[in-house]
Parts: sequence; C-alpha cells; structure tokens
Amino acid sequence: MTFRAHTIAGVLAQTIPGGAALHEPEIGGAEKARVDECLRSGWVSTAGPFVERFEDALAQYTGANHAIACVNGTAALHACLLLAGTRPGDEVIIPSLTFVATANAVAYCGATPHFADSDEDTLGLDPAKLANHLEDIGHITKGNCFNRRSGNRIAAVVCMHAFGHAADLDRLAETCRHYKLPLIEDAAESLGSFYKGRHTGLDGVLSALSFNGNKIVTSGGGGAILTGGAELAEKARHLTTTAKKPHPWMFEHDQVGFNYRLPNINAALGLAQMERLEDFLTRKRRLAMRYKDAFAGVEGVRFFEEPEDRRSNYWLNVLLLERECAQHRDAALKAANEQGFMARPAWTPMHMLDMHKDCARMNLDTAEDIFARLINIPSSPALVS
Ligand SMILES: *Cc1c(COP(=O)(O)O)cnc(C)c1O
Repeated sequence: MTFRAHTIAGVLAQTIPGGAALHEPEIGGAEKARVDECLRSGWVSTAGPFVERFEDALAQYTGANHAIACVNGTAALHACLLLAGTRPGDEVIIPSLTFVATANAVAYCGATPHFADSDEDTLGLDPAKLANHLEDIGHITKGNCFNRRSGNRIAAVVCMHAFGHAADLDRLAETCRHYKLPLIEDAAESLGSFYKGRHTGLDGVLSALSFNGNKIVTSGGGGAILTGGAELAEKARHLTTTAKKPHPWMFEHDQVGFNYRLPNINAALGLAQMERLEDFLTRKRRLAMRYKDAFAGVEGVRFFEEPEDRRSNYWLNVLLLERECAQHRDAALKAANEQGFMARPAWTPMHMLDMHKDCARMNLDTAEDIFARLINIPSSPALVS
C-alpha cells in the first residue's frame, strides 16, 4: 500500500473503530471511594495520610528509596534542578525534543537551557552526540563543568524518556560522571517503563514524575521527586513544604521555600490509580501490539517499538513516517483528526521556539528530523479490554 494522507486514518478506523481521544484517564469506583474517604476525613489539603501512602506506593513500585509528592511534574522538576545545585546564570543541558515543561523548569531557576540532540532509536538524548559535544565545549575547573564558548557553568544534564521509552541511561550516566555533571531524569512520561530491568528514574541523582490527567496514572494534577539519597530526600521535602523548620507551633523558615506539596485529595486519587497501574500497563501493551500488527504491512510509516533492553509503558504510541513521506505529515494529521481519531505531532523542538532561539545548542538535525516525521496516535488503556 503506498502512503497517502488517509492511510493512517484508515488503519486507525480498522484497529480502534469509532474514534478516540489521545489519552483519557480511567476513573472508576475505587478512585471515587478513596476521594470520598479523603473528603469525609476533612484532610483535603497538604496535610493528611494519603500523601504519605501515595509516596510509599510510588517508592515501592519504582524501587526508589524516596518519593516526595509535589503539586505537578513541572514543580517536581524545578525542585530537582535546584537541589542539584542549579543557580542563576547556569546552563542546563536538556533535549530540544521535549515538552516545554523541561525548559520552563530550567528557566525558573534563572538558568538557560542548552539544547542537545535526540537519538532516533530511543527518541531520547543521544549519548554519543552528547559526549562529542561535551568534548568540544566542556571544560572542567574545580569540580565544575563550564561551557568553554559561553563561559557559563553547566549545572546538570536532564534526560527525558519520550512517550515512555527509556533513554540510554547507562551511556548518559557515564558521560555525566566524566564531566562531573549531575544527571536528572524527567521521567514524567515513564511511570511503568524499565531500562535493563530497572525502573526509569533511579539512575539520575534526582528524577521527576508527573500525574497530570493525560499521564498513565493521574492524581488530577500532581508529580513526585524520586531520589536514592536520604539527605537529598530530606532537602526535597523541606524545599517543597515552604522550608519550615519542624516545630509543633512555631513558624520559622530557613530559606525561600515553595508551596509544592501535593494536596491530600489528589494523593487519594493517585493512590487508587497506582493500585490499577499493572492493569493499565497490560492493556496499553496490548494496544501497542495491535498497532504494531496493523501498521506492519503499511508502506511509508513505521510503528515505534520499545528499544532493546527496555520495557516501555507505551504511554503515547508513536508512528514515524519514512523520510519520503514526511511532507504528508500534516495532511495525515488532518485526515485522522477529521475522522475522530486524535493524532498530533511531537512537541515543536525547544530551539525552534522564539524564546529559546539564542540558547546554547549542538547540532540538532535528528530532533528536527524526528519532529518532521512523528505522529502520536490514540493511546488510552480503555481502547482495549
Ligand atoms: C507532563 C510532562 C511534564 C510536566 O508535568 P506536569 O505535571 O504537567 O507539570 C514534564 N515533562 C514532560 C516530558 C512531560 O511530558
């Protein structure tokens, strides 16, 4: 079958008849019961037992030593960057191909993003290009890495597990160690995704999860910091709860902190969702395999499968158009959306946004190429039983 604008819409109509949103949350009786329990207790805000139970569930599932619940993933990422030592004037290396929150969190610290390219095999940071780039521009003085060209300190590297596919953590971590750069994982999309048997979010010094309504597990809005270090966890808890010194009645704060703690009512919802995560993962994988089969014989487009050594959550399913068909991307998106199948392109790469056009960067050909060819298709677990 040669590729035409209607090809994708046609395959979708056969695979998931009737149209579909991109990713809808599934809220059922278990969620309602938990939220009701929370409402009846009167503890609806940032104090209450569900927050800690949600944190325990996250730590237990991921294998992280510590999980600190936050109001959203962006706030969690902001806190991760501050805790890793990001200061005004610093640069932070992030993939250009990411959701805007990654770059925003850097800007909230008074730092600027420094854009790195992505790898077509993982859709995440390209470890080889990162190593080459740092060899070119990186300069270590007194235990800090500086950008030789701008003179700015590079505070950290943030990798992101795009659409639930783990980036090449081993090689990224190795490069970061070499250049004395803390690795932070933006694991907002990768709850339930594993890299060589380890849950994503465990290789970074600090990692951020998101429980926004479109993510695999939702708490309405919400996020969490994962970390292995007890001291960092303590600092994270302190920074995200207005930096109040523990005392039964005195209000004393020892730095400018943030009101970033997740409310109990959101944690109640999140806890009920965590109890259904395995079921969501099973059905999302089933849907992904159905897409894989459906697109197998279709010319001009390829279903993106989990890279080797990974187990992906298939948060948002990905199609990649062949290069010769890239010019049909927008027509294919239009046809799918007109038939009721929500499809969308990847995020516009950050370096192509006007506000970031002057930021430091390496060659970003692959990020631009992936952006030109990638299409996300409906991925709700409810699409399969
Ligand atoms: C969703 C998301 C975030 C931020 O999450 P919010 O909870 O919406 O603040 C950050 N990074 C990536 C890559 C995301 O997909």
